[in-house]
Amino acid sequence: MSSHIESTLVENRVFKPAKAFASKARIKSMAQYKKMWNESIKNPEKFFAREAKELTWQKPWKKVLDWKVPYAKWFVGGQLNVSENCLDRHLDGPRRTKAAIMWEGEPGEKRVLTYQQLHREVCRFANVLKRNGVKRGHRIIIYMPMVPEAAIAMLACTRIGAIHSVVFGGFSAESIKDRALDSGATLIITADGSYRRGTIVPLKKNVDDALKSGETAVKRVIVFRRTAAEIHIEEGRDVWWHRELEYVDAKCPAAALDSETPLFILYTSGSTGKPKGILHTTGGYLLHAHMTCKYVFDLRDEDVYWCTADVGWVTGHSYMVYGPLAMGATTLMYEGAPNWPENDRFWRIIEDYGVTVFYTAPTAIRAFMKWGDQWVTKHNLSSLRLLGTVGEVINPEAWMWYHRTIGGGRCPIVDTWWQTETGGMMITPIPGATPTKPGTATLPFFGVDAAIVDDKGKELGANQGGKLVIRKPWPGMLRGIWGDKARYKQTYWSEFKGMYFAGDGARRDKDGYFWIVGRIDDVLNVAGHRLGTSEVESALVSHPSVAEAAVVGKPDELKGQAVVCFVTVKSGITTSKDLAAVLKKHVRTVIGPVATPDEIRFTDALPKTRSGKIMRRLLKQVAAGELVTGDTTTLDDLSVLAKLATAED
Ligand code: ATP
Ligand code: MG
Repeated sequence: MSSHIESTLVENRVFKPAKAFASKARIKSMAQYKKMWNESIKNPEKFFAREAKELTWQKPWKKVLDWKVPYAKWFVGGQLNVSENCLDRHLDGPRRTKAAIMWEGEPGEKRVLTYQQLHREVCRFANVLKRNGVKRGHRIIIYMPMVPEAAIAMLACTRIGAIHSVVFGGFSAESIKDRALDSGATLIITADGSYRRGTIVPLKKNVDDALKSGETAVKRVIVFRRTAAEIHIEEGRDVWWHRELEYVDAKCPAAALDSETPLFILYTSGSTGKPKGILHTTGGYLLHAHMTCKYVFDLRDEDVYWCTADVGWVTGHSYMVYGPLAMGATTLMYEGAPNWPENDRFWRIIEDYGVTVFYTAPTAIRAFMKWGDQWVTKHNLSSLRLLGTVGEVINPEAWMWYHRTIGGGRCPIVDTWWQTETGGMMITPIPGATPTKPGTATLPFFGVDAAIVDDKGKELGANQGGKLVIRKPWPGMLRGIWGDKARYKQTYWSEFKGMYFAGDGARRDKDGYFWIVGRIDDVLNVAGHRLGTSEVESALVSHPSVAEAAVVGKPDELKGQAVVCFVTVKSGITTSKDLAAVLKKHVRTVIGPVATPDEIRFTDALPKTRSGKIMRRLLKQVAAGELVTGDTTTLDDLSVLAKLATAED
């Protein structure tokens, strides 16, 4: 593999943290970041032991790290409980009456749960689980709307040592069944429905369908009443959440769990293939979530923090529930769609609650841009002090819009690169220290030894594209793929000896900043030049008519691969052959002749996972004129595929 990625699209703009922000931040300068990072790499055991002391342990650990490639154990011999760290320890001081969760339903209801109230609800529900036969190590599927009870259910599992597996509420019966079979779950927690764009999503019906064939081990379904929609109740199997609460009391001790006790299984989003059941454990994971909230969001007691991710994704686990609650922060939760009843719902929420820290995904930012600034400027967003993104490469165009239009030019942006597998953020700016550049996740977090290597595992120099690897274990790392030891080794540890590789291509610039250029399988090889899909996509989106673009390669006899671009245009723009020609020329000017698109295909929508990631593997098949095959269960809207097959140049 030629290791050079054309990297002419280098962003030269640099944004230094504002003094007003830096002076109040925990980490105030690059010198401080570098000193801490060096220590975390040279002496990780000392570094992480110091950080871990901020958590509450029922029994101290004997050994910080036990590392036998590729198996890590963190805080060996230590015992703790995640729900105790997220709840009980905040009850001794003024946080007792502070809002833990502020919630808004899509129809408009509002609820606030203080730490004391949340603690009580979690204890009661943990007793409900016990009453229904749940024991340590049992797997529990949570298939819930975005309501506080989703977090309550998760925390209740952690309280008694049961392993939760949250299944995103937008998934089908088939996906629930697959995950129930794979995890061997015995109990499902769900609701009678959830609100999405004004209609009721029939969650319980999907659970019924998933269980119909009788193949799973699920014996009990607990149903939370959210919508009062009429549902089927299977006698002997289904019970109501509120009825069960009548039989239990509000005392439930937090189980003392070994640091390596499994905490949850979460299936990846499936952008590149069949979802994998990623296993996370207790102590290391919680530490990673806690530390990143502390240093990356620089969370404060006075913050109103909002992560828009669904609880069904790892972001919803680490950065809506566990990280912020372990910090004693106020976390906001919104049930529904960003464009219900109108396109300004998010900005309305930020204004209403005085949100200070806002964390969302590039796909959402591009949608906001497409809808237009008028929805944003109606609202006062001056409470915001910090913005974040995760999930995909953010194109510099969207970064700039986020910075100016949402952040008012005043808020640092943390572009955080990480994965379900990594448990928490891995490459990210530290907001009071790191000068940012639009489109790069910048530098590694503490303890993260990231590098770009060639196919032989040799580290590459500046601006040479290659594979992104992590060379040291970190506390939040996955401990395996549920039920498949061989796949764990094969997927992450077989490419290079002793290094973690999870499929992303990247390069480092002369400042050492990491630019993710896309999935390694998606990197284009055009006439011997390697091109990151994200670089071509960024170039397209920098044209004023383009809202979103996805670029894939198609086999080409002459060049190896031809560059095929799927493009959606902004509202009000009409597509034409002329516009296609203009866009081809535009990419050629921005990147260079080698990147000139061979085909521009206009489309109304791109195939995305439910978490909003573009599924390029499907587009590759469409571009090559092949029948689309492979796992499509996590695709958001199947009809998009049918339309794409007929999209015109
Ligand atoms: P699957 O592994 O099933 O294909 P997935 O990788 O999309 O699904 P996640 O674990 O949710 O599932 O996503 C992690 C991936 O998202 C990363 O490997 C990377 O490709 C992308 N990603 C996340 N954050 C960023 C970011 N800040 N910049 C660039 N890419 C990002
Ligand atoms: Mg992945």
